[in-house]
Order: sequence, then structure tokens, then C-alpha cells
Amino acid sequence: MWYFKSPEVVFGEDSLSHLQQIEGSRAFIVTDPTLALLGVAGHIEGLLQEAGFATELFAEVEPEPSLQTVRRGAECALAFAPDWIIGLGGGSPMDAAKAIWAMYERPELDATDINPMTNLNFSKARMIAIPTTSGTGSEATWAVVLTDTEEKRKFSTGSREIVPTIAIVDPSLTTKLPRRITADTGLDALTHAVEGYVCSWSNDFSDGLCLKAAQLVFAYLERAYTDGENDVEARDKMGVAATIAGLGFGNSNLGLAHAMGHSFGAHFKKPHGRCVSLFLPYVTEFSINGGAGRYGDIARFVGLTTDSDEEAGGRLLVQRMRDLESAVAQPQSIASFEIAPADFEDALERLCDHAEQDTQFFTAPRIPEREELEKLFQYVYEGRPIDF
Ligand code: NAD
Repeated sequence: MWYFKSPEVVFGEDSLSHLQQIEGSRAFIVTDPTLALLGVAGHIEGLLQEAGFATELFAEVEPEPSLQTVRRGAECALAFAPDWIIGLGGGSPMDAAKAIWAMYERPELDATDINPMTNLNFSKARMIAIPTTSGTGSEATWAVVLTDTEEKRKFSTGSREIVPTIAIVDPSLTTKLPRRITADTGLDALTHAVEGYVCSWSNDFSDGLCLKAAQLVFAYLERAYTDGENDVEARDKMGVAATIAGLGFGNSNLGLAHAMGHSFGAHFKKPHGRCVSLFLPYVTEFSINGGAGRYGDIARFVGLTTDSDEEAGGRLLVQRMRDLESAVAQPQSIASFEIAPADFEDALERLCDHAEQDTQFFTAPRIPEREELEKLFQYVYEGRPIDF
């Protein structure tokens, strides 16, 4: 038995106006300090107030949000008693909002208690997710990724009940997204699309979504990166790509690029999308070397080949990933993150432990043995193509 979950998705230009059709009286907005400073949070608050809502802003979410932050946010939500929780921002505020929503509904639970088996029984509030980056797809997924800052590790969990009620994907929110964040988050969406398609939990419902999302990222990311302030079509398509990829992998799962990227990013404190996409071409090569299929489907769907040779298609796909990463000036080795060899060697054992414990490790199309995992990290450090 399997489930397909989706929020109601409102997308395209002017979709923020949907906020004025929402029924309710108290909205608790979870966001980050930058979006408060840029006036984005104030704009959303204004739209809700015009629609008759009392609002409260919790603008304390840091990138890769911590368990401590969501615990604080849940206390504020309990004091305010909203009937809508609004997650406004990139994946960090949206994930924090999901955890806060759960802890508001069930105050006896900690964020670490949320899991697919927990019966959350939401009754007090519904949730709207409004992405301001085009990458994580958190607006459409059941997943929550938090960081345990003491253990320096990411903690991924989720529940089908935590999928937002509504996702509003409006390109006006990403036109001014800085280039670096555009690249990091757009490549995150590509990593979701590819891993969601090739992982062992892929299924008939998620396949088409993942293929379409990959096609959109290859077609529009470079444009959004180069001229995102004026190219509304590229911003719109990247927003749609991220949400579609979220629906795809959210109803399937992910693989090694995420397991290794989570472990690496939490240890060295690097942004999520930059880390998972760093590993994507390498783990794709590793999987193809082991005979894993399905990459050829992606290569054909995005127009790289018409040939049915799976392996050749997969290798063209790896090259296309690397070309796109070069076009958006993405680091393509661990060394290019300016991590000294000694610091990397010191961390290697822990990087492997945390990657192996990641919830996405076991759905990879080729699961590495411990020595292979170490070797993978070492090759990515040096930027060497995978030959094993
Ligand atoms: P983010 O939310 O951490 O934001 C990164 C930076 O971009 C922040 O400084 C933020 O203020 C800034 N920013 C956001 N929107 C902006 C805008 N419109 N203009 C200017 N600056 C803006 O980044 P992210 O990559 O979107 O999210 C990463 C988090 O999402 C990680 O914690 C990751 O683990 C999680 N994640 C969750 C899922 C899921 O399904 N729940 C999937 C993938 C990743």
C-alpha cells in the first residue's frame, strides 16, 4: 500500500492574491530575519490583515533550522492561538513552520517525536506554505529537516499529516533572489527530480512529476540565474519545477546525494542545495558503474538522446549536470569549498557514519559498502570522476 499526498497548489503570477480568499481570523507567520528585513514578511502580513486577519510574526528561523528554534516558535504559536500557520521563505522557514504546526497541535510532542507513525490529528489550524526560493519543494512535501546543533547532524523526519494544506507559488517572490541562492536552490530541485526518479521507492505517481521537474530545471535554471530579475518566465518555471519536484520525491524518496549532502552540509555548515547537488553527478556515475538503470529515461526525456542505450544516456546526463553546474558557477569538489585536507580527513569517519544513518541512504539505486562510501567522499574531495 502506498499514498499520494499533495497540498492545493496555487501557482503563477498574482497567486498571492489567493491569501485574500482564505477564511479564518488569526495567522501565525513563520519566516526568517532576512525576509522580514526585505519587507517580504510585511507584505504578506499586510495582505492577511486586509483580509481581516490578526497576525503575528515569528521571524527567527535561521538557515538549516535548529530544534531549539522550532521549540521557541511552538511556544509563541501556543500563546497566539492561530487558525492558520503560514510558512514563508525557503525550505528553512517552511520546515520550521511544519514542525511548529505539529507542536502547536500536539504540545506534548517534541519535534523529534514527529515521524510517519505518529498520529497528529490536526484540529486547531491549517497551514499555507509560501516559498521564496525555488528549490526545496517543502511547500509540497511531508518532510521536515531540522538540525541538531549539538550533534552537528541533520535530522529528517515527516508525516503525511504535515503536508501543507495550501502551497502558494508566486514568481514575484523570487525575482530578487540572489544568484548564488538561485543556483543552490535550483540545483536542489534537480537533485530531487533525479533522485526521486531513480530511487527504489519511485512509483507510477511520482515518475512523471520527477521527469517534468528535471526537464524544467535544465531548460530554465541558467536563465533564472543569469537574468532572474527581468526573466519572469524563468522564475515562474523554476518555482513550478521546485514544487513539482517536491511532489515527485515527496511521494517517492531520495538517495545518496541527499544522504552524503546532509552529512557533509551539517558537519561543515554549508547550504543544503549546494551540498546535495555537489554529490549528484558523482553518485549518478557510481550508480551507473554498478549497472543501475533509469538514468537513460531522464536523458531521453530532457532531450539529450533518442538512443535506448541506458548507460550511454546516463553518462550524457552526468555531463549535462556538470555543464549546468559550471554555467551557474557551482563548486564541483569538496576542496573548492575551501576545506583543508586535514579537516576533511578528520571528519571522514563521521561523514560516513551520518550518511549511512540518513533516511535516504537505503533507497539509493546502488548502496555503497563502507569502503566505497569513504572512497566516494575522497573522490568528491578531489573532484575525480568515479571509476568504481
Ligand atoms: P533557506 O530557507 O535556508 O534560505 C537560504 C537564504 O536565502 C536565507 O538567508 C534566506 O533569508 C534567503 N532568502 C530566501 N528567500 C529569499 C528571497 N526571495 N530573496 C532574498 N533572500 C532570500 O534555503 P533553502 O535552500 O530554500 O532551504 C534549505 C532548508 O530546506 C534546509 O534546512 C534543507 O534541509 C531543507 N529542505 C527541506 C525539504 C523538505 O521537503 N522539507 C527538502 C529539501 C530541503
